[in-house]
Amino acid sequence: MSVIVQAAKSLILKEFLAAFWLTTKYFFRPKVTINYPYEKGPLSPRFRGEHALRRYPNGEERCIACKLCEAICPAQAITIEAEPRDDGSRRTTRYDIDMTKCIYCGFCQEACPVDAIVEGPNFEFAAETREELMYDKNKLLANGERWEREIAANIAADAPYR
Ligand code: SF4
Ligand code: SF4
Repeated sequence: MSVIVQAAKSLILKEFLAAFWLTTKYFFRPKVTINYPYEKGPLSPRFRGEHALRRYPNGEERCIACKLCEAICPAQAITIEAEPRDDGSRRTTRYDIDMTKCIYCGFCQEACPVDAIVEGPNFEFAAETREELMYDKNKLLANGERWEREIAANIAADAPYR
């Protein structure tokens, strides 16, 4: 009996020393956790976050209402209506995205010939109601204005690989 007790004590001591060594080893290593939301980790330029509609530097909308994004969207989350302006250019009169349907595949961004619709770096857009996730053109353009600097930098960083 005493042999069994002795073996059990020896095993416990061995396990304790192994755990102590492991803890000591990691205690002095850099932390892998961050204090979110006060600290944020790096994001890839290809990160697919909240959608935005962009404008050119002169303020003109980039979107030419070609509807390629609407056609390619596998979730049928995009609804576009368009009509020609007096100058003959074609622009959207309605651009909605149902964010509750979106699967963040990025196809809309890939299909757009003028980099108008993009998925920006914002991932903090949780809402309390379903209605808040029905984005209209004004909301998407406002997102574009808010995130243009980051979006333009991400597109430039990714350009050599496209
Ligand atoms: S990311 Fe994909 S699912 Fe979402 S709107 Fe664009 S094409 Fe549709
Ligand atoms: S966002 Fe791009 S792909 Fe979609 S309608 Fe406008 S120009 Fe066409």
